[in-house]
Amino acid sequence: MDKISIVVPCYNEELSLPYFYDEIVRVAEEMKNEANFEFIFVNDGSLDKTVEVLRDLRKKDSRVRYISFSRNFGKEAAMYAGFKAVTGNLSVVMDADLQHPPKFIPEMYKGIKEEGYDCVATRRVKRLGEPKIRSFFAMRFYGIINKLSDTNIVPGACDYRMMTRKMVDAVLDMSEVNRFSKGIFSWVGFNTKWIPFENVARVAGETKWSFKKLFAYSLDGITAFSTAPLQASSFIGILFCVIAFIFGLVTFIKTLVFGEPVAGFPTLMCAMLLIGGIQLLMIGILGQYISKMYVETKKRPIYIVKETEEDI
Ligand code: UDP
Ligand code: MG
Repeated sequence: MDKISIVVPCYNEELSLPYFYDEIVRVAEEMKNEANFEFIFVNDGSLDKTVEVLRDLRKKDSRVRYISFSRNFGKEAAMYAGFKAVTGNLSVVMDADLQHPPKFIPEMYKGIKEEGYDCVATRRVKRLGEPKIRSFFAMRFYGIINKLSDTNIVPGACDYRMMTRKMVDAVLDMSEVNRFSKGIFSWVGFNTKWIPFENVARVAGETKWSFKKLFAYSLDGITAFSTAPLQASSFIGILFCVIAFIFGLVTFIKTLVFGEPVAGFPTLMCAMLLIGGIQLLMIGILGQYISKMYVETKKRPIYIVKETEEDI
């Protein structure tokens, strides 16, 4: 008999959790001849009654386990903590808001057991119910990161996936603090089957991702999985040195041949501003990477647990 561990990061999900639980239990019932289940909820420092809801679920169902963080560490940390806790030979990670429909779990199971994949993942093909501007930037993001990075990231790829124990262990071995799971899942390799699905609306509560947070997250993703911006800075730096050298030579010869016609104040200002700007930009890129290295070298924990089901 297989054991499927369902990992669910939860941040302020008191309203969605009861719906989620009902649906996932239905799937577990449907698959009761093939697999046992455990549900690992990771309460990522919620400010609402999420942890109370989890305690109640645990009391009535011993398959429910939970890990409660001491504060909000982010979805990436919550997934990591969940994977660390899994005991099943198969693991699924999914959102608590039913935007990741549990009905795909039997299909994922088949993909791994019968078709021999290591991972069956979902990708969103239509972004209905999402602001147009957000979809636009999302598509640009996939374009940019796939150009810059050797790690291929499938457009619309969701975290929602089922993985074998081996793949989960590989993901856990990547213990970096700046976690970008879309990149991590791809970097570890393994055969992945993709299930396309259409976006569904949240069952309750609201999204925790503002545009600003998403933008910062996408920059994190690019700097975590690509050093191309660093190389670009050296390239642009060299280019501008060459341009400056040619410009200087031309001015020198011109002055020798024709004499100094007008005071070159405007040209000088333009060149200075431009080069100054480029320098600042490049220093900024260096700063991005150095700040990441600084955080990584501290080897801080990715999350801190305050309570689990063993405490009640
Ligand atoms: N989440 C989390 N920590 C956070 C933000 C989100 O654990 O800091 C969880 C959240 O509870 C949900 C999942 O991550 O289960 C996806 O979040 P959300 O639905 O807000 O994102 P969206 O679906 O809008 O991208
Ligand atoms: Mg959601």
